[in-house]
Amino acid sequence: RLNYAERIAGWLGARAEEQVVHAVDDVSLTIHRGEVVGLVGESGCGKSTLGRMLAGIGTPSSGSIRTIEKTAEPSASRSEHDGTRAGQRTARHRLATQMIFQDPLSSLNPRKRVRDIIGEAPLVHGFVERKHLDAYVVDVMERVGLNPDFRERFPHQFSGGQRQRIGIGRALAVKPDFLICDESIAALDVSIQAQIINLFVQLRRDLGLTYLFISHDLGVVEHISDRVAIMYLGRIVETAPTVELFANPRHPYTIALLAQMPRLSNRKRQFEPIQGEIPSPLAPPDGCHFHPRCPHATQRCRTERPMLRASGTAHQVACHLVEAQ
Ligand code: SF4
Ligand code: MG
Repeated sequence: RLNYAERIAGWLGARAEEQVVHAVDDVSLTIHRGEVVGLVGESGCGKSTLGRMLAGIGTPSSGSIRTIEKTAEPSASRSEHDGTRAGQRTARHRLATQMIFQDPLSSLNPRKRVRDIIGEAPLVHGFVERKHLDAYVVDVMERVGLNPDFRERFPHQFSGGQRQRIGIGRALAVKPDFLICDESIAALDVSIQAQIINLFVQLRRDLGLTYLFISHDLGVVEHISDRVAIMYLGRIVETAPTVELFANPRHPYTIALLAQMPRLSNRKRQFEPIQGEIPSPLAPPDGCHFHPRCPHATQRCRTERPMLRASGTAHQVACHLVEAQ
């Protein structure tokens, strides 16, 4: 029973001032239905760009995105869009993927009441009739742990954690099956972070949601993800099931990242920048992007790009060294 979605992004660019940054470079990512995939990397590695492109927010300045959705039904849905054909994705397809942002305050319209923030899209897209809208909004608010009595209020009348619940409610209101969470808890207090993570876990269980969980916090990713993808300068360098990746990292970059992570403490397991500067994404190094920082780099690494290849049963690694083993 084929039941997974494969989302491929190729040579996507994002504009930074006048120069084109190839923020995401020929990335292929398989996400199984119902799975939580954690996407990890240092800031500027392209993980947000990848998330936005998958959510259909913005269009690549060059290249294209191919999304292949394989389901139990015989007709797999496919879509492809690039800078000129962004409109090709159907409305339903776009709504099925929703994004939860880091800062709920800047992603919520301050002039709108919560009832409209949550209720507008489902009404416009025909998920609910106007006469049932109020009950629909009440239902969504209860699901995300908000008191529906407050539906006439504005975003600034809520706490940071509650605002994030509003953002999640707005996403859920159009019945998505795939949520892309981009640093969705990073701006919240630690105690509130735990509550929002629990909400994500509960929603997954209740609604069968699939997640791409983008974060630089390894502790959170280890907690919530079934599988982890490690990204470095626009490329995925390693993916594996979470337990396997943390127990047996194989790519030198992943190994360096995990070495920064205090294993015995649950306090703030964010990684420190590892040795050496991250090269500018405007001019990434040739060959393996990681070679200037890699203790194992050889001449081949400076010229030839390592492709992401199966290594063992569950791992995929993009490294000449690992491939040779
Ligand atoms: Fe290091 Fe070479 Fe592997 Fe890149 S390909 S991570 S430089 S050993
Ligand atoms: Mg980001």
